[in-house]
Amino acid sequence: MILQPFDPWKSPLCTCPAKMSLNPYTGCPHGCLYCYASSYIPRFAECRPKVDLLRRLAREAAKVEPGTLVAMSNSSDPYPPLEKDLRLSRGCLQILKERGLCVQVVTKSHLVAQDVELLADMRTCVAITVTTLQDSICRRLEPGAPLPAKRLAAMAKLAENGVAVSARIDPIIPGINDEEIDELVVAVSRAGAGHITSSTFKARPGSMNKIISAFPQEGATLESLFARGGKVAGSCYLPAETGRDLMQRVKECAQREGVTFSSCREGLAAVPGINCDGSHLLSAMHKCDAVP
Ligand code: SF4
Repeated sequence: MILQPFDPWKSPLCTCPAKMSLNPYTGCPHGCLYCYASSYIPRFAECRPKVDLLRRLAREAAKVEPGTLVAMSNSSDPYPPLEKDLRLSRGCLQILKERGLCVQVVTKSHLVAQDVELLADMRTCVAITVTTLQDSICRRLEPGAPLPAKRLAAMAKLAENGVAVSARIDPIIPGINDEEIDELVVAVSRAGAGHITSSTFKARPGSMNKIISAFPQEGATLESLFARGGKVAGSCYLPAETGRDLMQRVKECAQREGVTFSSCREGLAAVPGINCDGSHLLSAMHKCDAVP
């Protein structure tokens, strides 16, 4: 199936609203060291389009209730460099629009802005991930992804054209990007984000090893921090007080900037009217029955 119920990786801490999941591509070329999808999808770095994608999506979307929320994408970026020519995610958006479905695009790529007119003309919101403002950190942490300035420019272009935009400052990794929290929040809110979703790094053996190799100086501290944390659904967490402090810092900065805040799988209490994934922005601008 192309359209599937969103799978929260069996995490009991997931508070996402009910939604469908759509990945136009299998695999992702961004190479984020912390990526969890790369641990279970074979040949993950090799981004390839789903076979017969648009025809299958049209058939499946016809059976989904209009107003249902579709997240595009959760397991691979929907705007890899291939999208520049193939325009498959754009084709998906057109099909979902015709069916009256609500869409949340989740991406790290500035290429999303090439669809600004279509996005502004449908029931959608866009979440753009920005984990650092420093190119040098970005190149080590997310070696294949667009640089931060491009993501912020895309955010600004979408917001200026009336598309509801949120930022994912996600994940925060102590010693690597936690010193930038204030600057990140200011940068994304000034670029037009109306909401910030944040979370701390959830380590898996593969991702932890990649981060230690790329950031050897910070690696030993990180390892000892995670040794004191717990485990949820196969992922290692920071010690609870460290995670809480980091999320509190993001929240306070967001409040100063006048944007809403939520955390992802941190076990923190939800705020009424705010969806952890930022999809409440969509229901605020458009009538979307399936978004509480
Ligand atoms: S953009 Fe997302 S799916 Fe792609 S490598 Fe990074 S974390 Fe994984």
